[in-house]
Amino acid sequence: MSPLVVAVAALGAALPLQESEDYREARHAMVSRQIESALGGREPVRDTAVLRTMRSVPRHKFVRAGDVRRAYADRPLPIGHGQTISQPYIVAAMTALLEIGPGDVVLEIGTGSGYQAAVLAEIADSVYTVEIIQPLGESARHRLAELGYGHVRGAIGDGYFGWPDHPPFDGIVVTAAASHIPPPLVEQLKPGARMVIPVGGPFQVQSLMLVEKQADGSVIQWNMGAVRFVPLTRGE
Ligand code: SAH
Repeated sequence: MSPLVVAVAALGAALPLQESEDYREARHAMVSRQIESALGGREPVRDTAVLRTMRSVPRHKFVRAGDVRRAYADRPLPIGHGQTISQPYIVAAMTALLEIGPGDVVLEIGTGSGYQAAVLAEIADSVYTVEIIQPLGESARHRLAELGYGHVRGAIGDGYFGWPDHPPFDGIVVTAAASHIPPPLVEQLKPGARMVIPVGGPFQVQSLMLVEKQADGSVIQWNMGAVRFVPLTRGE
């Protein structure tokens, strides 16, 4: 497997979009320029379901009002409370690594804006997402419901422990950087299922780890390259 190369620097200025312009075009340009191409040496995402989804989910509805014009730029954006919505490429790449499909049950740790949850909900039927900052989790829940993703189940809590009441998941994506792979999350993976998680110290470059649970319960891990995420914080 070739490593992902993720641009850490923010690229490009604000898109010159007028409110009346068609964001669909911006989304298509985002996919062709940033996600399907080898821009800056990154590994192109080829999964057709992921590409179709990235062309359809209205990312501009998940950013703050003042950032709408930057919603389709090749960069993360602030969403309040010191958190960020990930760069479009990294959302696509992490989703593709999960190898999920219709009928699958997927868990996300770090709801944030709800954008990654919406992307997952377009591909898998059932999505659970956990957020530790209550106001973020609540506004994401409202936003997801308004946009037709009301079936995404959200909880407020420390995602280190996953969603213990639920049967094992077909995929888990962690969108905040952990110091280590949380054992409760490995436990909640089905045999054969994958987890994608950034591992490393806070505010440093971390490693995007792909973890696959084997039939005997052991895991195989691959380092997919350098990424930069906000830290996975721990409830006291
Ligand atoms: N997936 C989000 C981006 C998330 S940024 C999106 O698409 O917008 C990371 C998020 O993880 C932040 O909202 C942060 O509050 C949350 N987070 C950090 N530590 C957490 C924990 N222990 N459990 C659940 N969420 C956590």
